[in-house]
Amino acid sequence: SVLDRIAAVEDTIGAFVAVTGEEALRRAKEIDDRRASGEELPPLAGVPVAIKDNICTKDVKTTCSSKMLENFVPPYNATVMERLNREGAVMVGKLNMDEFAMGSSCETSYFKKTKNPHNPEYVPGGSSGGSAAAVAAGEAFVSLGSDTGGSIRLPASYCGVIGLKPTYGSVSRYGLVAFASSLDQIGPFGRSVADVAMTYSAICGHDPYDATSANRAYPQFTVGDAGDMKGKVIGIPKEYFGLGVSADVHDRVMKAAELFEKNGAVLKEVSLPSTPYALSAYYIISSAEASSNLARFDGVKYGYRTPEFENLTDLYEKTRSEGFGDEVKRRILLGTFVLSSGYYDAYYKRAKLLQKQIQQEFSETFSSCDLLLTPTGTDTAFKLGEKESDPLSMYANDICTVTVNIAGLPAISVPCGNAANGLPVGMQLIAPKFEEQRLFTAAGCYE
Ligand code: GLN
Repeated sequence: SVLDRIAAVEDTIGAFVAVTGEEALRRAKEIDDRRASGEELPPLAGVPVAIKDNICTKDVKTTCSSKMLENFVPPYNATVMERLNREGAVMVGKLNMDEFAMGSSCETSYFKKTKNPHNPEYVPGGSSGGSAAAVAAGEAFVSLGSDTGGSIRLPASYCGVIGLKPTYGSVSRYGLVAFASSLDQIGPFGRSVADVAMTYSAICGHDPYDATSANRAYPQFTVGDAGDMKGKVIGIPKEYFGLGVSADVHDRVMKAAELFEKNGAVLKEVSLPSTPYALSAYYIISSAEASSNLARFDGVKYGYRTPEFENLTDLYEKTRSEGFGDEVKRRILLGTFVLSSGYYDAYYKRAKLLQKQIQQEFSETFSSCDLLLTPTGTDTAFKLGEKESDPLSMYANDICTVTVNIAGLPAISVPCGNAANGLPVGMQLIAPKFEEQRLFTAAGCYE
């Protein structure tokens, strides 16, 4: 039925860069046979999932929506894929994204522009736009995306689905094509909190292949109900409501806060004073790491190679000029600049100091709060093309989400009603490290 749904709506939505229908049916049949023979199967057995195209899938193209990797077929699976396979999930295809996960609208993809299922004139958000749109449009039950500065939460809020950015180190990055390694995390999208909690339970856990993977045990995550919020303190950081947040978004999120209060939670205004500087710190740190990570795409080891060149330098220059899109080039230039001698102290070092400060402010706030509640984005989805030629206004969409990556915290975006324009609004719940259960409890109580 999911493949039928894809056939019916994909022309309008454009969430996928590849649909792997034949293999999906083969695998679904295999799971059916195992079930018929009486085998007890894990909870995700037979569940159709779709995967962002920066997560390596063995023998299936993994393009990062870039010309650079247009024909790249990984010889191995990312750890999250191994885990989903072990759980019996059935992959139905690979999902469109902003090129190398750089963007907030899914418009920097080399292949196509994904549309928002609520209104195809609007963007689905990014960079995991395909992951959010596919789930919202019923083209998959759950999907995986990646979040470096909001790329799961922002599209989840624009498309009216639930998206979890897990604690840094809780989900293996092995086989995720790196953008900014110290910030990147893979996480799930779903239409219910239960689906997201179940998928997160399947993919989290220690992985010796990822040196930043946390070596600890995880519980089986569950969904809460209204009573669970009794006595919980929800911090409302005032800075997040003064960052150009629209009146509609402000109202919807405050209505959600009132509902938590009705269920016994205690609301508390808190302050995270460094918030207005977080966006600058994020774009410096993430671009610095991207400039280093993307150095590997040189036309020698893998991916695109320019057809004609005179010497090695010429090969590098032409390959990278032709293989990368404008936004990726912008990040490489910015990252190389902030790391260069003479500028390192002024930009990169200061951004790293700010990161420390932001981490400290969060941990002080969590000494008196169980959770924080903020908007996910400053507004609802915008029209296709509206911000495409203005990178700074595109970056400004990430103001509510980047702090979470800078601090390595878990956060979830949950739909909290629609704005006057009929488009979904998302609220963001943030918890201390490894306290994903608090997110599922609160989100489940709201749902
Ligand atoms: N929009 C942000 C950026 O372009 C976030 C991207 C992400 O989380 N992958 O960097």
